[in-house]
Amino acid sequence: MLARRTVRSFLAVRNLKMADRQVHTELIPVNRTKYAAGENILRDHVEKIDPEVYNIMKNEKARQRRGLELIASENFTSKAVMDALGSAMCNKYSEGYPGARYYGGNEFIDQMELLCQKRALEVFGLDPTKWGVNVQSLSGAPANLAVYTAIVGTNGRIMGLDLPDGGHLSHGFYTPARKVSATSEFFQSLPYKVDPSTGLINYDKLEENALLFRPKVIVAGVSCYARHLDYNRFRKIADRAGAYLMADMAHISGLVAAGLIPSPFEYADVVTTTTHKSLRGPRGALIFFRKGVRSVNAKGVEIKYDLEDKINTAVFPGLQGGPHNHTISGIAVALKQCLSEDFVTYGQQILNNAKALAENLKNHGYTLATGGTDNHLLLVDLRPIGIEGARAEHILDLAHIACNKNTCPGDVSALRPGGIRLGTPALTSRGFKEADFERVGDFIHKGIEIAKKYNAAAGKTLKDFKTFTATNEEFKNDIALLAQEVESFSGKFEIPGNELF
Ligand SMILES: *Cc1c(COP(=O)(O)O)cnc(C)c1O
Repeated sequence: MLARRTVRSFLAVRNLKMADRQVHTELIPVNRTKYAAGENILRDHVEKIDPEVYNIMKNEKARQRRGLELIASENFTSKAVMDALGSAMCNKYSEGYPGARYYGGNEFIDQMELLCQKRALEVFGLDPTKWGVNVQSLSGAPANLAVYTAIVGTNGRIMGLDLPDGGHLSHGFYTPARKVSATSEFFQSLPYKVDPSTGLINYDKLEENALLFRPKVIVAGVSCYARHLDYNRFRKIADRAGAYLMADMAHISGLVAAGLIPSPFEYADVVTTTTHKSLRGPRGALIFFRKGVRSVNAKGVEIKYDLEDKINTAVFPGLQGGPHNHTISGIAVALKQCLSEDFVTYGQQILNNAKALAENLKNHGYTLATGGTDNHLLLVDLRPIGIEGARAEHILDLAHIACNKNTCPGDVSALRPGGIRLGTPALTSRGFKEADFERVGDFIHKGIEIAKKYNAAAGKTLKDFKTFTATNEEFKNDIALLAQEVESFSGKFEIPGNELF
């Protein structure tokens, strides 16, 4: 009976003409092009094979060259790293880890991953019997998710610096209305805060809350905080609360690699970092974990760390499939560069430049959160002059100065940030020195003066403000003059990577 019906319906389908077929959605006919006889779809350069994409890339490169890049998390990676990113390493599937892969043909992939691991430990001065590293995580946020997945467990508890206070989304961010980050959806998170009057982390309050909340992990890491973290204090709090200490050094890892600011490794159990910020590599991440003895109990029995397996299996097969081997190759190249004297000089220049910019802006009368900087970034508090961070960001952007609006300590609304964050790693990679950063400070001041001049006339909402800046001729004239000045200044500096895109 069943078989007969199947045969009948098969015949019915076969008898249907193409035009009679019913589809539930109307599909747009696909327009196909044909490559010309002289073209080779697999071997021609992108310029020839896809001018549309090529032009966008070229324009982006020109934009990067023209502007002043002050976004603190950005950098310009090197030509050598870009070579690795555009290599045949991107073709290979290699699920698993060196020596234990799901596919064959991984001889060189294994060599690369082992080399990358070895360099990562070397750069941060780590003993391979005490530390291991996973180099497969795709970026910073996935790396942090992997750590929580490995050692916190579903609905387990984490504590991180609140996002408006300088923390990162991936440290458990939520608002009263919404669990914004999945790290607050899959785990229970409780933020700690900075003291609104000093802008410094309130360690006492963190300790008090950690002893009540009993998190499995305390995250010591920042995306907008201009001072060194007190890792020693974090360690003590973690020990009292029975928590792992995870340092997320995403922003500052280049400065740690150069040996210029305090390293978290002495105190942390786990350290994560992105590789594309001050470390100046490709977009990716590293997860370092301790191995060996964790503690000795009252009976004198050694308790061992079990992080290695947990973290590796959380990355793969827990959260990811095949590693991005071109990225791992690029990270290896960037790490080799970190081992040079030149990189230390670069790091020192990042710090000097941040200090020069901070001094310049203070001389122009600006207020800096925490009063200054010890690292690569500064947070300019614009509340005293009554300019919203979003407006400053927009005006500066129109003058080819790239930075981002940022909440300042004590901001009541995370939606109306009171300041802007400025960082020096990217322009330092273009060869900017202290005197150049004084010019940068002058340009920023000019931009904010323009914002002040038109602020009252430009409307109440940010939308009004943007409409005004797009239509008011007098304003457009002012900002175009500044943009021209900025462009002719920044155009004089070299830019790392490829020439055209
Ligand atoms: C940038 C950053 C991340 C996230 O990195 P992505 O690569 O953007 O996912 C995580 N933690 C901190 C502290 C960061 O600054």
